[in-house]
Formats: sequence, C-alpha cells, structure tokens
Amino acid sequence: MNCIQYIKKCYQKLKQKRDGQEESYRLSTQESEGQKKKTLVLDLDETLVHCEFKENQNFNYETILDVWHRGVLYNVYLCRRPFLREFLKQMSVFYEIIIFTAGYESYCYKVLQYIDVDKHISDYFARQNCIFVNGNCLKDLTILDRPLDQLIFIDNNPNAFELQPDNGLLIPSFLDSDEDECLFRLIPFLKFMANKQCVKPVNKFMKDYESIYGSLFSDSHITLQCNVDGEEGSLNEESCIIVENVPKHRKTQTLMNDKQKRNQVQQPRSQSLFSG
Ligand SMILES: [Mg+2]
Repeated sequence: MNCIQYIKKCYQKLKQKRDGQEESYRLSTQESEGQKKKTLVLDLDETLVHCEFKENQNFNYETILDVWHRGVLYNVYLCRRPFLREFLKQMSVFYEIIIFTAGYESYCYKVLQYIDVDKHISDYFARQNCIFVNGNCLKDLTILDRPLDQLIFIDNNPNAFELQPDNGLLIPSFLDSDEDECLFRLIPFLKFMANKQCVKPVNKFMKDYESIYGSLFSDSHITLQCNVDGEEGSLNEESCIIVENVPKHRKTQTLMNDKQKRNQVQQPRSQSLFSG
C-alpha cells in the first residue's frame, strides 16, 4: 500500500466512523477498469508468516518487529514462509492481492510493512472485519466488494471458509520449517486458475489439477483449529488450539524424533498475541 492509498484508507475510515459504519468498509475499485484482475485473498498468520510474542529458543525467527497496540509495545518475533517474496511478486501479475487476517490492524500493518517491501499487496482487512461465532473466526468475503466467482481465498484455518466455502483453498499451516514449499507449489496452480472464467468451486479445480499434475501439498497437512475470542491483549490469531498433528518447530521436531515422539499432548500455543 503506498502513501496515497494509506491516506485514502484513513479518510474512508474517518468517513465511515462519522457515518456510524466503523466496523467495515469497502475496497475502492481496481485502478484500471479495462484490466481487471482476479482477486487473491490471503490469510496472514501461519499462511504467510509465523509470529511469536515471547523469545523461544525453538523458534528460528528472522526479525523482531516493534508493534504498538493500545499504548503497549509488543516485540513480535517473525519468520516468513519460504518463497513468500517470489509468490507475491508472481501472483501480483495475475491477481489483486488482499490480506484478510484475524489479527489486529496495528499488528497486520507492521507485518505487511516488513513482508511486502515491493508493495504487491493492495489492501488488508483485519480483526474488526471478522465475525466471531462460538470462538470461531469467520471471514465474510462479501465485504471486499469483489465478484466471488473471480476470487480465491487461501487460509490455514478451515473455519475461515464457512461463509463462502466455494472460494476457499486450505493451505497447511506454517511455523518455521525451511523446507516448506507450499507457496512455491501454489504458483503454477494459481497461474492456471487466473485463466479461468470462473474460479468456483476452487476445491474442484484443485482436485482436477492435482489429478493431472500431482498433489500440491504432498506432506502431511497440519491443521490448526483456531478459536479466536477477540480478547484484549491478543494481537494475532490468539488462542489457537492445535487439534491435529501437533506442529513443532524445527528444533523441537529434532528433539521429538530423538525421543521417539512420545506423549504428543495437545497444548495451546503461547506465541500468539496478535495473529489471524
Ligand atoms: Mg491463519
């Protein structure tokens, strides 16, 4: 997002606040009416990055971001998913890229500043635009004001697809594995989808594609079931409870292998203050 877009967004928010519509807003139309791209909506946490909020010797973070939120300074330990920069660069040719996260806006903005130095991401929607039902975070794609038959939504949390399941593409969760290739593997599929008249249902297209070219995500999928209650003090996809294949950081995995993977007890992650 460039300076002018940011100022426009601030103005929009002020206007909506004045009009009593603070909780959501609509995107501006795409810049060139004659060259409309399809829309790629991306979740942030465990889809594009993994962040923690305490120092953790098992977490191989690459940078620490300072995030101010409601008068409190948080240290955010961040690791990008491998191939992220290349993924955004290539996808921006075919898609308008929008972030939709359950994390707070202050956190999201700071993370995007770091991961999107080339400004491939057009806009973002944050926690105030999510719907929380029974602890589950739902993301309503209609607030983006984009045709749904031209929109693909990638998230690591299947709950996020509940309102528009035909648009969803479930990606394995990322913690900090250097060997993760999910974004790299998605590139040819998303290029293939960019030529379709209608991208729904995404899952059906993906199955057809995989029947020809092989499975996109061949490793065992890690699924995080996220319960997000929107409590204060949480800036990202907080309260994520791991319900399947307890994911471990690389160092932890090594230790686990050495110890014959004993006692895979479900446990809450402590890292999430902001995510979505
Ligand atoms: Mg996520």
